[in-house]
Amino acid sequence: MTIRPATADNIADGARVLRAGGLVAFPTETVYGLGGDATQGKAVAGIFAAKGRPSFNPLIVHVADTSWVTGLAVTDARFDILARAFWPGPLTFVLPRQINCPVSELVSAGLDSIALRMPDHPVAQKLLREVERPLAAPSANASGTVSPTLATHVAASLGNKVGLILDGGPCRVGLESTVLDLMQPRATILRPGAITAEQIAALIGSVAVSTEDPAAPKSPGQLASHYAPTLPIRLSATSIKPGEALLGFGRTAQATLNLSESGDLIEAAANLFAMMRALDDPTRFNAIAVAPIPATGIGVAIHDRLTRAAAARS
Ligand code: AMP
Ligand code: MG
Repeated sequence: MTIRPATADNIADGARVLRAGGLVAFPTETVYGLGGDATQGKAVAGIFAAKGRPSFNPLIVHVADTSWVTGLAVTDARFDILARAFWPGPLTFVLPRQINCPVSELVSAGLDSIALRMPDHPVAQKLLREVERPLAAPSANASGTVSPTLATHVAASLGNKVGLILDGGPCRVGLESTVLDLMQPRATILRPGAITAEQIAALIGSVAVSTEDPAAPKSPGQLASHYAPTLPIRLSATSIKPGEALLGFGRTAQATLNLSESGDLIEAAANLFAMMRALDDPTRFNAIAVAPIPATGIGVAIHDRLTRAAAARS
């Protein structure tokens, strides 16, 4: 782990690391983010692995400019008004994914939506412009610990799990961004933050405030908002039954698709949502059998997702 001051040279190095699929922690005005190229599934899986989170939650994608949004999400008049007023700044929009959105499905945790934010911090801005790719960046801390507002917090929490930490001093806001869901006719605040419901309502009319975090649903009903496959899922399958698709891992004979032939859990996580979708085809199969996957490291989050998918049906 290296903390380096966020000079032009070090930001350029950070951009190179990110383009190569590595992870870089960088300051935003809210908290330090653990950034990875949102279009590279393995980089995104690396973020989950570094944070050690036992499940996949959707991540916020950072953009340098409003013009980047067009290829990523479907926008509407509410977005135009609010982005003009609050971007760059601590307001995240949840929008429908654009057709052919290049962002990894793992970023959206399999949902049809994408969360976007344009950070207001010169280091984050410069880094994004040099990488020229959207960056997935949750808070740069180990799962279950407080969000970092200093480079030293990142180092203390993630240690050697991140190659480069760009030090831009303390974060100004120190509080996560407001997350606003624009997927429904009524705009809904999913997570309160620095931009308030009143500020938003003043520009687009009334706003609902959700009491439940969609990333960590307490009631099983909320799972419906997560991607639930149509076909039944059979876990830890060691053989294939008639009509089943087989999602393999490692050297799985007869696999219809394989999460990772080499048995690499990071690669498996990167492929998980796209492959589940591809196999979820009732015109071809009657169930999806999934080969045994080790429940270690990021395998814990893979298991969590597969178990939910299996339970959603029964
Ligand atoms: P962070 O750790 O700051 O990246 O926070 C991510 C938060 O953004 C999660 O708690 C989610 O509530 C929210 N979020 C991100 N993407 C989505 C999405 N596609 N749909 C709903 N909420 C999202
Ligand atoms: Mg966090």
